[in-house]
Amino acid sequence: MTGPDPSVTPPARCPICGGGRFVHTPVLWPGLVDEWGLSADEAAYIDAQQGTRCDTCQSNLRSLALALAIMQWAGYAGLFGQFVHDPRHAALRLLEVNEAGTLHHLLRILPGHRFGVYPQVDLMQLPFESGTFDLVVHSDTLEHVPDPRRALEECRRVLAVDGALVFTVPTIVGRLTRSRAGLPQSYHGLAGANDPGMAVHTEFGADVWAFVLAAGFRSCELVPCAFPAGLAIIARR
Ligand SMILES: [Zn+2]
Repeated sequence: MTGPDPSVTPPARCPICGGGRFVHTPVLWPGLVDEWGLSADEAAYIDAQQGTRCDTCQSNLRSLALALAIMQWAGYAGLFGQFVHDPRHAALRLLEVNEAGTLHHLLRILPGHRFGVYPQVDLMQLPFESGTFDLVVHSDTLEHVPDPRRALEECRRVLAVDGALVFTVPTIVGRLTRSRAGLPQSYHGLAGANDPGMAVHTEFGADVWAFVLAAGFRSCELVPCAFPAGLAIIARR
């Protein structure tokens, strides 16, 4: 199936490349929808979050929300594809943990970009000194971490005083967060996946902001893109 998901209206213009055409490829599979306990509407917007993408730059709604949030934090009004080339951002000290979707190849253009993947760079114990970064970015990683509050505290620790964490996590907006402790293992990625690193520990819900504030951040800002399909979070240190 191609063409936009009928239940979600993509933005008129891609905030990353400026493209105006979106396509949809289904991503969720019945077993995951069942484990997650999603209603039909919830499954539709999570599927759009992951599977509705700009036909030009291939960014899905999750990546679009993340780009919007980074630009909102920086006070930048252009396209994300321009943001990374703007000399005003050359001094930005940025940590990206695990590939942030299609933003990865753009973020790495920034001269101050540092990149690490699990397990070498583990959100539960970041191998960096306190106050090292202006911006920490991760995308759909927090749900795979055993203790999300500790991971958020670690992100805050490595941020400079005026820094921020910008991230996405799959969020079901009509219910509260659920731990999968004691439930059968559930994996994201592809049907049949069983990589322990892809196991889901936390299914985030409408109280996702409380995890951010409990970790000590002074604010939690929610940035939508085709809400509720795309949602990114700016957590200011
Ligand atoms: Zn695009």
